[in-house]
Amino acid sequence: SGMRENLSYEQFGVAVRELAQTIADDGYQPDVVLSIARGGVFVAGGLAYALDCKNIHLVNVEFYTGVGTTLEMPVMLAPVPNAIDFTDKKVLIADDVADTGKTLKLVRDFCLDAVAEVRSAVIYEKTQSLVKCEYVWRRTDEWINFPWSVQPPVVRRDGQVLDA
Ligand code: 5GP
Repeated sequence: SGMRENLSYEQFGVAVRELAQTIADDGYQPDVVLSIARGGVFVAGGLAYALDCKNIHLVNVEFYTGVGTTLEMPVMLAPVPNAIDFTDKKVLIADDVADTGKTLKLVRDFCLDAVAEVRSAVIYEKTQSLVKCEYVWRRTDEWINFPWSVQPPVVRRDGQVLDA
């Protein structure tokens, strides 16, 4: 394919407000926004402000090793959040994209036992996703360039490296 969907920081700002508006119009008021690091952190921050939710949690999941290349299964990295923090809470899981949906499924299944209710919000959902998110801004089947990961990490201008 080779086609890319490019999201700018400016478009992201619009996306997160529109996504929050959809959630508010649906009458869902989360007690806690659970972000999937790292991409979901941007989405969770924007949604939590727009929905006036002051409680953000974070879970680290590792799955993608490159464009379209993954580990066999996504894994939660330590520290895993304490499920007790979610007991009887209305949780909104926030991520940048549901692609295979395996990452969201892992986190949603982790929540399901403890929480009162769990819903998911993403900027993009792809057709193949095995989790159908309650709140989706756009659908695409292209690889998405997000503004926070489209550029490589910065390097020191003096060329020095810390752990070589
Ligand atoms: P899934 O488990 O749904 O296949 O993938 C979820 C995670 O993989 C996302 O949170 C994101 O970090 C990464 N990912 C999946 N598809 C894309 C994509 O099209 N573009 C980018 N930049 N990351 C993606």
